[in-house]
Amino acid sequence: MLKTHNCGELRVEHAGQQVTLAGWVNRQRDQGGVVFIDLRDRWGITQVVVDEATSPQAHPIARDARSEYVLQVQGVVRVRPAGTANPELETGEIEVVAQNITLLNASRTPPFYINKEERIEEVRRMQYRYLDLRRPSMQYNIVLRHRIIKFLRDYLDARGFVEIETPILFKTTPEGARDFLVPYRLQPGKFYALPQSPQQLKQLLMVAGYERYFQIARCFRDEDLRGERQPEFTQLDMEMSFIEREDIMQLVEGMMIALVEGVGTNKQLLWKPFPRLTYTEAMEKYGSDKPDLRYGMAAVDVSDIAGKSGFGVFQTNVAEGRPVKAMRVPGAGAVSGTQLRKDTAELEDLARSAGAKGLAWMALPTDENDEVKGPIGKFFTVEQKLELFERLEARPGDLLLFLSDRCEVVYNAVDILRRTLADKLNLLDPNQFAFIWVIDFPLFLWDEENKRWDPSQHMFTAPMPEDLPLLDTDPGKARGSQYDLVCNGYEVAGGSIRIHDRAMQEKIFPLIGQTMEHAREQFGHMLEAFEYGTPPHGGIAAGIDRLAMLFAGAPNIREVIAFPKTQTGSDIMAHAPSPAEPGQLEELGIAVVIEEDKEDA
Ligand code: ASP
Repeated sequence: MLKTHNCGELRVEHAGQQVTLAGWVNRQRDQGGVVFIDLRDRWGITQVVVDEATSPQAHPIARDARSEYVLQVQGVVRVRPAGTANPELETGEIEVVAQNITLLNASRTPPFYINKEERIEEVRRMQYRYLDLRRPSMQYNIVLRHRIIKFLRDYLDARGFVEIETPILFKTTPEGARDFLVPYRLQPGKFYALPQSPQQLKQLLMVAGYERYFQIARCFRDEDLRGERQPEFTQLDMEMSFIEREDIMQLVEGMMIALVEGVGTNKQLLWKPFPRLTYTEAMEKYGSDKPDLRYGMAAVDVSDIAGKSGFGVFQTNVAEGRPVKAMRVPGAGAVSGTQLRKDTAELEDLARSAGAKGLAWMALPTDENDEVKGPIGKFFTVEQKLELFERLEARPGDLLLFLSDRCEVVYNAVDILRRTLADKLNLLDPNQFAFIWVIDFPLFLWDEENKRWDPSQHMFTAPMPEDLPLLDTDPGKARGSQYDLVCNGYEVAGGSIRIHDRAMQEKIFPLIGQTMEHAREQFGHMLEAFEYGTPPHGGIAAGIDRLAMLFAGAPNIREVIAFPKTQTGSDIMAHAPSPAEPGQLEELGIAVVIEEDKEDA
């Protein structure tokens, strides 16, 4: 080793020891006869003192050293002179008095500071990702991610799970996105598909009798890169045999609690056990199947009261079966009249952006003798208002928002209003974890464009046993044996009990618009496997990137992935994707034809 110690470990008890350190120049201060260098490696920073009088060899190297030069320093540890200790550094009570320094490598001036946290344009960070990753905050994130993965591996290993790798070159494994296709030189005209998840393979491992499988698995989905998505991402993928929904939920819940408590990031679980919401409850109350429950502002149905009010829009909507829902925003009504008009106008714009035709509101005065503010107040009798306030548990100074429209529009608006208000009102504490389970999803969702049912999870999800008859009569009402784990508004894991019977699986295909012929061509191996003693089984997959992001308190998953793609799916450091060489295409028997309008995309 070129070092005997790392830059974070020397303490007072090492005083007098001869040591060798190696690392990067975090900072250099030339004070004439004496040069100070803060030497940094992954573990910390140690101050090196280089005195011209006592270290004639080391001094010129130290004097010429610039930020990010790589040095090896031999010297002796000494306690810093009284009054010069640095309490900000773990090694702040000592310094290393250099005898010899070797310049291991020089560095150009980096395009941004490594030794200072500052806002850097993301494009620049991505272009020089190796320098970005050298920054201590990124090293923290990447090491934290490693610790999370290590914890999960150990946890599952201790419970009889086996990690099994499954192929990256495979056949379509649909999860609702497009496949990435990979041509193959030895079989021109044929393509592998990169797995959107190891779904089929892990089910086949259950057929193969492994009973408890997991994998830190890379998944590939070619989909529109909205916000949080990456074309490749990592899942903790799991599957178990001879279990019911409850078993897997208990196991994963225990694992998450242990992870929060074990990985040591001081995150606070808001509750355990994790509450459970049905899909319908989640949508009705929060307008989302992954609600953030760090804060309230649930939507409450007030159709009965509002329908009786004198407000025409509410009367008509209720009469025609469209609900009126109200949300209570604590304290948001206790502002000046001008501010209130401005705030509510902004909220109304937001509701409109979600498709709503408008947003009605009432603000409760802080002084009991004052009037309720807001344009719709006059349409409600005193008794109706009191009934409303009681139902919403409203308190003086609260703002009440009212939405009325088709259910989907109300859901969308409630969701966006809740998320925006929580942010504005500073209700998003990244150190609090609000885990919840969402269960009883519909098995299918109607795809209006293609006029068919789409699996709400994937085509291997089993219906709830009691809903089986609905597949023949009213498939839209059938619930799937599904479960999603949600934390702070993110779906962090999702899974289901699977179909393990050929006849049942074959029943799903026509419902989701697949001909039997096509289904057998694509999934014949699954159907066949189901005929060879397939045990009842189920599983789940947790998003490692999202979990690491939440644990790191990072604003997006790119902060916890070493080499992520940009929001346009590019690697701008290595310039991928890039055109293939003509020779490569020829070998593959591929001709690239690009329509003009797609050329710059
Ligand atoms: N394969 C599913 C997914 O990627 C998870 C599962 O059902 O286990 O979302």
